[in-house]
Amino acid sequence: MTEPRIYLSPPDVTDVERKLLLEAFDSNWVAPVGPDLDAFEARCAELVGVRHAVALSSGTAALHLALIAAGVRRGDTVLAPSFTFAATANAVMYLGARPVFLDSTPKSWNVDPEILADELRGRAVRGQLPRAVITVDMYGQCADYGPILDACDRYGVPLIEDAAEALGATYRGRPAGSFGLAGVLSFNGNKIVTTGGGGMLVTDDDSVAKQVRHLSTQAREPVAHYEHRTVGYNYRLSNLLAAVGRGQLQRLPRMIEARKATFDHYRAALGDLPGVGFLPVADYGVPNWWLTCLLIDADKFGATRDQILAGLQRADIEGRPTWKPMHLQPAYQDCVMRGGTVSAGLFHRGLCLPSGSALTGHDRERVVAAVRSVAAGQKG
Ligand SMILES: *Cc1c(COP(=O)(O)O)cnc(C)c1O
Repeated sequence: MTEPRIYLSPPDVTDVERKLLLEAFDSNWVAPVGPDLDAFEARCAELVGVRHAVALSSGTAALHLALIAAGVRRGDTVLAPSFTFAATANAVMYLGARPVFLDSTPKSWNVDPEILADELRGRAVRGQLPRAVITVDMYGQCADYGPILDACDRYGVPLIEDAAEALGATYRGRPAGSFGLAGVLSFNGNKIVTTGGGGMLVTDDDSVAKQVRHLSTQAREPVAHYEHRTVGYNYRLSNLLAAVGRGQLQRLPRMIEARKATFDHYRAALGDLPGVGFLPVADYGVPNWWLTCLLIDADKFGATRDQILAGLQRADIEGRPTWKPMHLQPAYQDCVMRGGTVSAGLFHRGLCLPSGSALTGHDRERVVAAVRSVAAGQKG
């Protein structure tokens, strides 16, 4: 009997979400407006600890509108980490602005606050401050917001927090998504909370919330005829998907616990292997444990990261390399990069293990056995 494939981070949906979805369907709020959308927004704002949440069709759409709200325009510069998913940088390009990429710190794999502060200082001297800074809370762990906010505040540069991977994480007790002028959440199928595709912009700023809501609904003026003073977008989330999201949020604490248990299991079962490191957990916060990531020292482990991925594949288990940094992407080869050896090293040596919140004990054992057999195979 062959065992079913184990996916990296599949959707974890239950009767709770199913019931809410069908209730929304039966209510005929089958549109990008309705009570589930309102309730989903209210709950997200509450979780993130901000006044406003605007539900959107994707995290990428939320990034796009967040950058517009921060005043980013054609020809502007935006600082962003290189080690991220492409959506972070793509949103900058949509506006005709240019990202300048910054290296990561090995302490959390997030943007290195010293490189960020240094870049802002140098740009202030040259009179070339960026229009905005984007941080990313990588793999469910917050960036180091103490020094990051100090630097941004000193030069008056707005911060956009890409918390697409980090809903439920905290930094010194404060929720991910709450640190910038605006925060971005994603509900893509592989994220900790999914609506089957969707996103959210969260903010404490009344005018940002108002502007983003307006732009996300085609910038239609509140008059009977169709009046538009600016170019808008069709970026609202469907009420049906918001109903799924409401169910997911009810289950979020349990889903975070499950991912944490998976991280603990992998660490206990693989941490003794030579050459195996884990994404470090910084003492300033609590992650949401979205994905468990390893860093492989091939010399000590006796096999490369890619050989481990191949071993997982043979056991019908989905593993993945860590994000390929933007400064190594053909699409971004012309962009400026500050540093780069840390993020390049994370990419060449890092991998993500299956971490879905519905992963069973048996699944975890299969993953551990597959990784251990690669180690044993290379030695034997
Ligand atoms: C998933 C993700 C996004 C994009 O979210 P979508 O909802 O897929 O558009 C943006 N940034 C990061 C870091 C992500 O992981």
